[in-house]
Amino acid sequence: MTLLQALAGAVGASQVLSEGDLSAYEQDWRRRWHGKALAVVRPGSTDEVAAVVRLCAAARVAVVPQGGNTGLVGGGVPDGSGTQILLSLQRMNHVRHIDASNLTLTAEAGCVLQTVQAAAADAGLLFPLSLAAQGSCTLGGNLATNAGGTQVLRWGNARELCLGLEVVTAAGEVWHGLSGLRKDNTGYDLRDLFIGSEGTLGVITAATMKLAPRPAAVGTALAACHTLDDAVALLNLAHTRLGAGLTGFEVMGRRALDLTARHFPALPAPLPDAPWTVLLEQSDVEGEAPARSRFEALMEAALDHGCVHDAVIAQSLAQSQGLWQLRESIPLAQAQEGPNIKHDIALPVSQIPAFVAGTDAALQRRFPGIAVINFGHLGDGNLHYNVQPPPGVDAHWFLAEQEHAVNTLVFDAVAAQGGSFSAEHGIGVLKRDALAQRKSPVALQMMRAIKAALDPLNVMNPARVL
Ligand code: FAD
Ligand code: ZN
Repeated sequence: MTLLQALAGAVGASQVLSEGDLSAYEQDWRRRWHGKALAVVRPGSTDEVAAVVRLCAAARVAVVPQGGNTGLVGGGVPDGSGTQILLSLQRMNHVRHIDASNLTLTAEAGCVLQTVQAAAADAGLLFPLSLAAQGSCTLGGNLATNAGGTQVLRWGNARELCLGLEVVTAAGEVWHGLSGLRKDNTGYDLRDLFIGSEGTLGVITAATMKLAPRPAAVGTALAACHTLDDAVALLNLAHTRLGAGLTGFEVMGRRALDLTARHFPALPAPLPDAPWTVLLEQSDVEGEAPARSRFEALMEAALDHGCVHDAVIAQSLAQSQGLWQLRESIPLAQAQEGPNIKHDIALPVSQIPAFVAGTDAALQRRFPGIAVINFGHLGDGNLHYNVQPPPGVDAHWFLAEQEHAVNTLVFDAVAAQGGSFSAEHGIGVLKRDALAQRKSPVALQMMRAIKAALDPLNVMNPARVL
C-alpha cells in the first residue's frame, strides 16, 4: 500500500488531495513561496491527525502543518520537492467548551480566530487576541507562531492567553495537556515549548485559552504627532492616565497612510496629513460616559503638552471601526503595491525614535530612493519597518539582489539597540539564516537539543526555524 492510500484509509479518500489546483495550500499569503506538496491531507479529528503523523513518520515523510495560511515567513507551505505532506487543520474548527466561571474557552486548532472571538462574545466574554488576519488565521496558527497583534499591550501575546494545549507529537502520540489552570508547577512547561514552535515540534490540535470580562465601553482615538519622540511621549501619558484601560497603541507613518489612501480611497481620513499618526484604544469597565471623559482629558493633556497637534475621538462604533480599518489596511495596501522587504522588529520603546532616525538615514545613503513603510504596535515596541524598492526599480530584482544587504543593515541596527529581528511573525524559512547567525550559540544548541529530543526523525516541518 502506498502512503497516499494509507492516508486515505486514515482520513477518507476525499480528504487527501493530490490533484487539481492546490495553490491555496501550496502558496503563501504574500505569494512569495510556491511549494509543491505530495498531498494535502485534511484530518477531521485529533485521532486522525495522530494517525496521519504516525504514517508519515513511519515513511519518513515530512509533515507541514497549516492553519489559515496567513503566516508571513514561509513556514506553513511545503517546499518545492513534492515530497512533503501538507497537513491542513481547517476541518478541526469546533469550539469545544466555554467555562464562563473559569473564564476559559477550549477550541480546536483550526478554529478561525474571528470564530473564537465571536464564541466568547456570545457568552458575554472577551477573547482579546486580535490581528488584521483574524478572518482567516486559526487559533492553532496563532499559537504556533505566538502571534501578537493589536491588544498585546494589555493582554499579551497568544502565549500569555494560553493555559493548556492538546498536541499530536512527532511520534503520532496525543499529549492531553488541555487545562484551565492558572497555576500548575509540575515540572517543565511543555505548553510553552509548543507555543511559537511553528510546527517544528508537533501539531497543536486544540487549546484552552483565557477569556476576560467584556469591557463596558471601548473608545478609539486618532492623534497626529510631529515626531516619533512625541508619539512615545503620548504613549507615556496614555499609560499614566488610562492605566490598564489602555488596550491599543498603534503608530502609522505618513508613507504607510499615503499607501492606504492610494489603494483604498474610500477609507476615512479624519486628520490632516502628519508625519506620524497614532491610533489609541481604551477599554473601560465603567461605561461610555466615564470612558469618554477620560479620553477627552487625555487628549487635552496631550495637546497642552505639545506631543499631539491634532486629534479626533470616534463618536460611534462605525467611526471607531473606520479608524481601525485605516490601520489594518496597511498590510493589504502593501500587498497591492507589490513585493517589499518586510521587517518585524522589537526594540525598547525608548530606543525607537533614535533607531528610526538613524536607520532611515543609513538606508537612504546605501539604497537611494527606497521608501520605508513604517507602522506597527508602538505600545509593544514592535514596528513593521518595511522597505520598498526605489521608484522604477523592478521589485523582484530588488528583493533578489538587495534583500540580504537591507536585512543586514536593519538587523545590525536592531541588535545595536538591544532589539529582536523577529517580534511576532516568527522565523519560518524567511529568517532561518538570520536566526543561525544572530542567536547565541548556547541558545541555538539548546533549541537543536529540544528539536532532536521531541522530533528525532525530523518529520515535523523540517528546515523551518532551525
Ligand atoms: P499558518 O500561516 O497556516 O501557519 C503559520 C505557522 O504555524 C507555520 O509554520 C505552520 O506550520 C504552523 N502551524 C499552523 N497551524 C499549526 C498547528 N495547528 N500546529 C502546529 N503548527 C501549526 N501576526 C501577528 O503576530 N500579529 C499581527 O498583527 C499580524 N497581522 C497580520 C496581518 C495580515 C494581513 C496577515 C496576512 C498576517 C498577519 N500576521 C500577524 C501573521 C500571523 O503569523 C498570522 O496571521 C497567524 O498567526 C498565523 O495563523 P495561520 O492559522 O494563518 O497559520
Ligand atoms: Zn503586527
